[in-house]
Amino acid sequence: MISFSGVGKSFGDNQVLRELDLGVAAGEKVSIIGPSGSGKTTILRLLMTLEEPDTGLVAVDGEPLWDRRGGAVVDAKRQAAVRRKIGMVFQHFNLFPHMTVLNNVMLSPVRVLGMSRDEAEQRAVELLQLVGLEKHLGHKPGQLSGGQQQRVAIARALAMRPKVMLFDEVTSALDPELIGEVLNVIRDLARTTAMTMLLVTHEMRFAEEISDRVLMFDGGQIVESGPPSTIFQNPQHDRTQRFLKAVL
Ligand code: ADP
Repeated sequence: MISFSGVGKSFGDNQVLRELDLGVAAGEKVSIIGPSGSGKTTILRLLMTLEEPDTGLVAVDGEPLWDRRGGAVVDAKRQAAVRRKIGMVFQHFNLFPHMTVLNNVMLSPVRVLGMSRDEAEQRAVELLQLVGLEKHLGHKPGQLSGGQQQRVAIARALAMRPKVMLFDEVTSALDPELIGEVLNVIRDLARTTAMTMLLVTHEMRFAEEISDRVLMFDGGQIVESGPPSTIFQNPQHDRTQRFLKAVL
């Protein structure tokens, strides 16, 4: 479902991704862990077409999203179609502050997918029930807690019926007592949906619990990849051992 092959990305002199090769199977739930500044978020931002790679190929669902081999360019329309298969939840919610919760979730299905307002509303209400916010349909984001806002952001991403969901440190801007409610929603999604999920997280216990596979990332490369039981209980690589010792 997701494939990176020989992907490189630099910001000026700062080489953030080095010849990255990464494949994620359809339905697989994969967590990326590793030190801050190691390039984890850049992987997600390339998939959202918020950044472009310098080299290599990124493909989603068998179709190229970026192709930087030999000057090839992916047609903008094709790229947009591939990009629509992907939903992302950001660290800082990124909700529209002037719109109600319901309208935040309805907006893209109506504008981008051309869904009727009735259908979009029905679906938005269902999704807001799923994340436990059916009582807040008419509220503005500013009237909600951070945890509630992040659950709206999850519902909003799901409303586009993505095949792939990306979660970028979605609890790091939250007060500690609000983290659990957001992780519970993501845990339920991981258990009950066939969506492919790629998460960047600092919540090690959560990553251990919900992931099929965990990637330890450092210095622009995958240091170690394996089932959570191996990565957390019996890490093979010295860099993984040191990282986990520092954060657990
Ligand atoms: P992580 O998610 O592992 O913390 P990031 O992918 O956010 O790491 O960032 C990797 C490195 O790239 C960092 O040094 C960061 O400062 C740098 N970086 C990220 N985005 C940009 C940008 N748009 N412009 C310049 N530098 C950036």
